[in-house]
Amino acid sequence: MNWPAFLLFMFVGGVGCAWAQAPQGLPRDLARERAAEVSEVRYALSLTLTPGAPAVSGEVEIRFNLRRMRPLLLDYREGRIRSVQINGIASPVVVEKGHLELFPGSLRRGENTVRIQFVSPVATAGTPITRFEDRDDGSEYIYTLFVPMDASMAFPCFDQPDLKARFKLEVIAPESWTAISNAPAESTAEAAPQQRRTAFEETRPISTYLFAFAAGPFRKLEGGPGMPAVYARQSAVERARPEVERLERVTARGIAYFAEYFAQPFPFPKYDTVLIPGLAYGGMEHAGATFLREESVLFRTAPTNTDLLRRDVLVLHELAHQWFGDLVTMRWFDDLWLKEGFAQYMAFHALDAFEPGENLWKRFYESIKPAAYAIESTQGTTPIYQDIPNLQDAKSAYGAIVYSKAPGVLKQLAFVLGAEQFRDGLRLYLREHAYANAEWADLLRALETVSRQSLRIWAEMWIRRRGMPQVDVAWSCQGDRLSRLSLSQRDVLATRDIWPTATQIVLDYASDNPVRIRVDLHGRTMDVPEAAGKPCPRFIFANDQDYAYGRFLLDSRSREEVMSRLGDMPDLFRRTLLWGSLWESVREAQLDPRTYLELAAKLLPGESDEALARSILARATTALHRYVSDETRRRLVPGFEALAAEQMVQSPDSDLRIGWFRALHGLAETPVGLGQLRDLLSGRLAVPGVELRALDRWNLVTALVAMSDPEAAAVFIAERQRDPSGDGQKYAYAAQAARPDPETKQKFFQEYLRTDAHPEDWTEQSLFPFNAWNQSELTAPYLKRALEALPQIKSDRKIFFLENWLDAFIYGQQSPAAQAEVHRYLDTARVDQDLRLKILEAVDELDRTVAIRGKFSN
Ligand SMILES: [Zn+2]
Repeated sequence: MNWPAFLLFMFVGGVGCAWAQAPQGLPRDLARERAAEVSEVRYALSLTLTPGAPAVSGEVEIRFNLRRMRPLLLDYREGRIRSVQINGIASPVVVEKGHLELFPGSLRRGENTVRIQFVSPVATAGTPITRFEDRDDGSEYIYTLFVPMDASMAFPCFDQPDLKARFKLEVIAPESWTAISNAPAESTAEAAPQQRRTAFEETRPISTYLFAFAAGPFRKLEGGPGMPAVYARQSAVERARPEVERLERVTARGIAYFAEYFAQPFPFPKYDTVLIPGLAYGGMEHAGATFLREESVLFRTAPTNTDLLRRDVLVLHELAHQWFGDLVTMRWFDDLWLKEGFAQYMAFHALDAFEPGENLWKRFYESIKPAAYAIESTQGTTPIYQDIPNLQDAKSAYGAIVYSKAPGVLKQLAFVLGAEQFRDGLRLYLREHAYANAEWADLLRALETVSRQSLRIWAEMWIRRRGMPQVDVAWSCQGDRLSRLSLSQRDVLATRDIWPTATQIVLDYASDNPVRIRVDLHGRTMDVPEAAGKPCPRFIFANDQDYAYGRFLLDSRSREEVMSRLGDMPDLFRRTLLWGSLWESVREAQLDPRTYLELAAKLLPGESDEALARSILARATTALHRYVSDETRRRLVPGFEALAAEQMVQSPDSDLRIGWFRALHGLAETPVGLGQLRDLLSGRLAVPGVELRALDRWNLVTALVAMSDPEAAAVFIAERQRDPSGDGQKYAYAAQAARPDPETKQKFFQEYLRTDAHPEDWTEQSLFPFNAWNQSELTAPYLKRALEALPQIKSDRKIFFLENWLDAFIYGQQSPAAQAEVHRYLDTARVDQDLRLKILEAVDELDRTVAIRGKFSN
């Protein structure tokens, strides 16, 4: 933090704190106690935003009902209190450990009014009120991001999700600025010379983490009359204009779809989308005013159809939160999965209704399951319900478990219950808890009520326990008939747990008339009597259509058969699942990565599905850079380079050509391959029908820098002159991190540890180039220091930064020595439990790399 320490706290002498010691963070007990005593909360907040200033000054009037007289704490940290008035009487200021104690003598039972004047920090990184300096036109924007408990870094409040409040905001800012917040603007007026006061209507009851505003020279874009509005910064308006129509169409259809599906109208008076450059997340679902990361909407690389659909999913995810998260909010962040799992599941659900030809459940599998299954197989995994005794640890709850496992488990639950009962349960749950808070048990009760079946055992396993099953198939034929088919399960973390699993088995035949059998596996093993007597299949896969959640490897007979038939398997969804299952076998060190690479090289030229081709190429790149020996890599890379260069030009589909182009700059390392990257930059080589965008070009430059291409320095200078934009400066910074020399690494690492050095998205952009796969020796000395920096990163950086940080530094390494270093750190250092789990999660990939290399000594 760059907020001067001497401003942090102002103590007034002679007033004892009634809490023997103010607690650190926000313990759950304090939150529960407050929620029981405080009600009817209203905030009237006035903020003055000054361009360039390191702080905002403000005043808040908090009205609330108090049941009992007792010491009462507000939350406020990192800022400075100027004055406090309780019920009209000036009161001493006592701030300790991020809490402001309200002087008990001035409080009363019933309604209370507290007025506080304060000054809170603003910076380009490390503060929840964030400044974005637009290097394209020199303008400035200020926006907030309070999740999970950072509203209390902006103004004094009861910063917990179950003290919902009505907010009335007033912003004083330069007259050229537009302010957007949760509620519609009620009035605007001149406040002072060249200053404008924007007053917003009072919101409906919302949690503090869902309150937000953004201000600056934003421009409002509308695709059509009556459509929800999109705001973009003024220098991005022209780029935003062509995207607005699709954005607004998806939003409008989504609003109608969810209102009908949930049987609840849109819960807030208006809905805006605000594009924020460099936002720390893809999006944030502030009630009535979703913020989306500008880069996730206005693509910096030439987009494919898959990219456009993923953007639709993002838009629908944030929109679904308006019901699941904003209208009904989890009581505490231990139930984070409730809102994230549903938002992600419902986003695909809605898009499947809008785009029935786009195979959305296959896309759901591709974007959801790999991350979920990857973390599930590590010792760092957690249940989807995550115990969080103190809200200051809530950031650690974010990750693949809530974003990938939770929606995967919900798909399984919808399969278990049936589509209608699942929907009716959600309707009941939303109706019963509208504008209030709820827990997973409330949802379960609603689902049990409508379905009249007990979900107790199901929930105990899938919500309360960590891990998942590996489901294996055994089968045999006599003559041309299947004589026996059985399933067995074991827990992937080797516990004795048994996972109730509903799945669909598919028996594959040459006639392409597969037989599907639904199975409910409740024990460790079961026979499937319906299968006996069916014609002997070519192969069997036990998770057709991806309804179940778990590891589904192929038995050896099926695996051989699948590998010989993948190329001409017409069912795209099944083909995708089988490629995925084979990759799981590689990661389990059961299938030689060279076999996967050979299969990929053979079948990729004939693969017509862009998303599937892209995932096979990404896995092939991982296998080349991590799982095989340097010698094997050097032998195989020229073939992949040549294939990519050829397909990038000759593939009949422009989306496929883009996929191959991306693969080429991810793979190229020979003089021929690197020469092609240079030719793409100079225009001597082109991807037909595709115009490269800024980040496409910078990715080429970054690859050349990382691979020590002899012309890298000249190419870098030329690109910097060609693209002096704000984005260009960020990408140039990231490209420099890829320089393979010790001075560069030292300089960058030192900057990483300071939040005031660069905006957070610059740092994030540069972490993977810094840890380029071919620079393990240069970056190895930073591995331990990166681990040691975790507590600082946890406190100073936004939610997803820590995982990116860990993944980048650990992913940069492939050796047993690096593996030993991480495990030594885990064995000897004192590490918080949540950080320990994050390290265990990240080191798993390194453990696998070492195991695969060891086993196949390739
Ligand atoms: Zn979300």
